[in-house]
Amino acid sequence: MPVRMCVVCRGRFEKAELSRVISGDDGEIRLDKTGKAQCRGAYICRECLKTAEKKRALERAFKRRVGHEVYERLIREAEEK
Ligand SMILES: [Zn+2]
Repeated sequence: MPVRMCVVCRGRFEKAELSRVISGDDGEIRLDKTGKAQCRGAYICRECLKTAEKKRALERAFKRRVGHEVYERLIREAEEK
C-alpha cells in the first residue's frame, strides 16, 4: 500500500485514508476520487480536512484564495465516498 504525506499535519497515511484535493484545468478545486488525475494535488487526511479551513491549508498548497464554500464542499464530497 503506497503511503503519502498529509499536507496539513505531515503525518504519513495509506492512500485510502487520505483525500486527494486537486486544482483542475478549469481552476476548480475538488476531490480527485480516482486518485489518477494528472494535475497538481494535495493529500489531506480525514481529520485535517475538517480543520483545513482554519489553517488555510489549501491556500498554502495551491497558492491561491480558497473560499469557505470550497472547504465545505470538499468535506461533503469526502463523506460521500
Ligand atoms: Zn493530517
